[in-house]
Amino acid sequence: MDRGDRSNPVVVYLPPFRYHAPSTLEEALTALEAHLPDAKILAGGQSLLPLMSLGLARPPVLIDVNGLPGLDGVAETDGGLRIGALTRHHTLETDALVRERCPILAEAAALIGNIRVRHRGTIGGSLAHADPAAELPLVITALGGTIEVQGPAGSREVGADRFFQGYLATDLAPGEILTGVRVPALGGSTGYGLAELVRRAGDFAIVAAAACVTLDGARRCVRASLALGGVGPRPSLIPSAEALLVGRGLSSRLIGEVADAVPEEIEPESDIHASAEYRRAMARVMARRALQQAAARAGGLPPARA
Ligand SMILES: Cc1cc2nc3c(=O)[nH]c(=O)nc-3n(C[C@H](O)[C@H](O)[C@H](O)COP(=O)(O)OP(=O)(O)OC[C@H]3O[C@@H](n4cnc5c(N)ncnc54)[C@H](O)[C@@H]3O)c2cc1C
Repeated sequence: MDRGDRSNPVVVYLPPFRYHAPSTLEEALTALEAHLPDAKILAGGQSLLPLMSLGLARPPVLIDVNGLPGLDGVAETDGGLRIGALTRHHTLETDALVRERCPILAEAAALIGNIRVRHRGTIGGSLAHADPAAELPLVITALGGTIEVQGPAGSREVGADRFFQGYLATDLAPGEILTGVRVPALGGSTGYGLAELVRRAGDFAIVAAAACVTLDGARRCVRASLALGGVGPRPSLIPSAEALLVGRGLSSRLIGEVADAVPEEIEPESDIHASAEYRRAMARVMARRALQQAAARAGGLPPARA
């Protein structure tokens, strides 16, 4: 069928499922528990529904969390932001508070898919889905974010470094719902950088890097983080970046040293998009770009030439 022919639209059939639309978090948790282990939460549907329409997921029960109060929106907290799980990518991209206090999130959200995907997809869905090439898990890892989870036994919090456990695998236990995420505010002497290699704008990244650096009054680095996406089954924090940068003044040469160490610290695999060797080489390039941007924004380096 010609996809360009509007009189002949492509028809997608989903496998059959039972649909619940609870109106409180408690009802959602109860419904989820009643239909374990196979029930799935439905948020924006931008990852789950394509999997179902391709026959790669066949959950017999969907629990739609879109009507739950309190899971949406961005709020200022002590030192950062709290973002509800149902906050759409488009809100992250455009929200004034996000753009002012944590602009790397707005930048990352703007790179996701297309405008239709960004209007439906949610941050909670992206984190729970845990695609290793996705932008939001990568950035939340570089930021050292905290993920809020609610389950039958109550609520708990998990650091992003422990939350992402493998390919499409997280620390979420059966019966738990991701309710929000907390991130530190950036700005002042903290700079951020985000660089990704994509085949076409809006595609999942082949390789992506996110970096944050904080400088003290003497322009020495006091905090640094570098995370890579698309080079392993989950976002990869690069510990040598922190070890090499903290306590030192930043320079292009030092950033080059950090980037040169990256290929040894990752274990990418080959797939139809890129070989492992190419991903290793590009990880070095993306890491250098992200760190250069972060250092320049923190005031520790002149802005990089285009
Ligand atoms: C054409 C297209 C292009 C895309 N391009 C990109 C891209 O470039 N970069 C990118 O990062 N993503 C991309 N995506 C995916 C998009 O970002 C999705 O929005 C996101 O991955 C999932 O969010 P969702 O709200 O749609 O979740 P859903 O699809 O509803 O759910 C995804 C999974 O998470 C679970 N889940 C959802 N919410 C919760 C919750 N609160 N608690 C527990 N479990 C939950 C669901 O059960 C399901 O397993 C693309 C999608 C499409 C269709």
